[in-house]
Amino acid sequence: MDREELRQAAAKRRSAAAEAPKKVEWNCSFCSRTFLRESAFMNHTCPGKKRLEDMRSQTGQSAYAYYAEWMRVKRHTVPPPETFMESRLFTTFLKFAKHVEAVKLPNVNQFIKSMVDSNDIPPSLWCRDSTYSMYLKLYDDLVPPMTQVSSTIDELFDLMVEHKVQGIDLFKTIGSEVLLKLLQKRKVSGWFLMASDAFARFYHSLPPTEKMLFQRELNYVAEKVARNGDILEKCRECAKEMGL
Ligand SMILES: [Zn+2]
Repeated sequence: MDREELRQAAAKRRSAAAEAPKKVEWNCSFCSRTFLRESAFMNHTCPGKKRLEDMRSQTGQSAYAYYAEWMRVKRHTVPPPETFMESRLFTTFLKFAKHVEAVKLPNVNQFIKSMVDSNDIPPSLWCRDSTYSMYLKLYDDLVPPMTQVSSTIDELFDLMVEHKVQGIDLFKTIGSEVLLKLLQKRKVSGWFLMASDAFARFYHSLPPTEKMLFQRELNYVAEKVARNGDILEKCRECAKEMGL
């Protein structure tokens, strides 16, 4: 190799080096850490990234919807999701959204309104057991019967799909313990059960001790039902349409 060839070879190496792709790095915009491997970047967690993931989750979306509803009830302007994410209430409402899912809280918008109406109970106290039972006690007076029945229908349809049963066999399939819990949590309304032939048949098949538990739970509505024949008739139509 002569001098000229050596010079050319060196020039070639230099230009190859110049053209070599620049090393790619991944930067986390939350914690400013830099990663050389994409997988490490994707897998790392930091508070800011976690918050964004929480916000994008279904629970996070519900948390924002509840926060927005609360702001509306309080007659404040509803801030955009980005502002909510930075708010100190983000964690509070995320916790509340998880609580709603866990206890299957009925009619969340009504719950939020009740909190504001009850001396403005702050969101940090919304997940307490005492708050939950206070709300269940208020529920029957606050939520109109047909609104209760409409969410009952949704709940019962879900159960039919889940247990792969139709109409009349539903109560027998889920059993008295589950049904009683749903009634106590107001996921199934006493108005609907009082109007359902399928429930009447199921009820009569129960041993006396279980009958008593249902009686105690249905007491709250029995008196109202007697005075509201027209509403009961509407409930009866809904129940019939569902084969119940
Ligand atoms: Zn990060």
